[in-house]
Amino acid sequence: MVGRIVDWNFGERLLRVVCGLPEKDLETGIPIFWITEEETVFRDVDGSWYPLKWKYGDEELQTGDVLTIGQDGKISRNYSADSGEVDIFVTNHCNSNCVMCPLSETVRRQEQKYYLRWLWDFICILPDDVEYINITGGEPTLRKKDFLEILEYLKGKFRYSGFQLLTNGRSLADEMFLEQVLEQTPRGMRFAIPLHASRVMVHDGITQAKGSFRQTDRGIRNLLKQGQKVEIRVVISRKNIAYLTETAAHIVSNYPRVFCVNLIGMEMMGSAAVRREELWVDYPEVFKRAEAAVKILIAHGIDVQLYNFPLCAVKKGYWPLAVKSITDYKVRYMPACDDCRVKEICGGFFASTKHLMKPEVKPVR
Ligand code: SF4
Repeated sequence: MVGRIVDWNFGERLLRVVCGLPEKDLETGIPIFWITEEETVFRDVDGSWYPLKWKYGDEELQTGDVLTIGQDGKISRNYSADSGEVDIFVTNHCNSNCVMCPLSETVRRQEQKYYLRWLWDFICILPDDVEYINITGGEPTLRKKDFLEILEYLKGKFRYSGFQLLTNGRSLADEMFLEQVLEQTPRGMRFAIPLHASRVMVHDGITQAKGSFRQTDRGIRNLLKQGQKVEIRVVISRKNIAYLTETAAHIVSNYPRVFCVNLIGMEMMGSAAVRREELWVDYPEVFKRAEAAVKILIAHGIDVQLYNFPLCAVKKGYWPLAVKSITDYKVRYMPACDDCRVKEICGGFFASTKHLMKPEVKPVR
């Protein structure tokens, strides 16, 4: 069951949540959560009470947050009104099987029996003034019909939100499908597409999907031909680090009207964590190899950003490119970071990467 907090008074520890109702029914919603020092319970519309497992402490909850109560009674938060940004996971399934995917193969193959029903409830109950919406997966375009219906609904409801679609771009090689997508696409959509290398063998080796380079390349060209905003993402690992410069040269000469290019450090979770020995390169080494690629892109007027890079791994002159890209609740710092003068503006590490790889840091003093 999914619900949105409409009245959060932490002083009295009272939380009123309207559950699973579309916007127009919000005022008639009766179900509530009641939180006391000793217990957290849920009162259903028929007046019955259920115990819940409350996962949050005294922190963060506020009016506008969207929560889900699982069948096991656990509550999780799916939208924080504070951040104003939301991820819409259309599916966990994917038509590629990237070696450094932060989802595990098991998760990507899991059956999602009731998930779509939950997703529709979730989208319906979100406030319509959400600032930014990331449509993601798995590969969100995989279930074409559901994807198009969701896109159409989002376009109608969130008229003033920014949008980003994270896709591997393969399905957009099909011009007829692309036409349907563009009919439903909200204004200003950014299509964020990973290109792992300009060499077919390297790209397809990383996605473990033969023919994926050809499709992604076609998808990017089709979007650019239609005047769409395309962001190219290069996730850097041992598999493609040696080809970064030629990948940048490929982007410059084949997709000159691309909106921006983001060079991205890995999140060591899921498949990436399992294969860490063959994939991991520490950030200072990654930056050293990425610098030439950055220069090529900038020299051709293409905007570049560095995602997931700690500042001490990046030359000072490039700090403005190293954005804080890790979602707040996943950010961690190494113990030595406490002595660092720039901790406030540094994006830190993914919790999983810190834990698994123990990256080297050089506090700035
Ligand atoms: S020492 Fe820590 S806080 Fe400072 S730049 Fe490096 S990672 Fe960031």
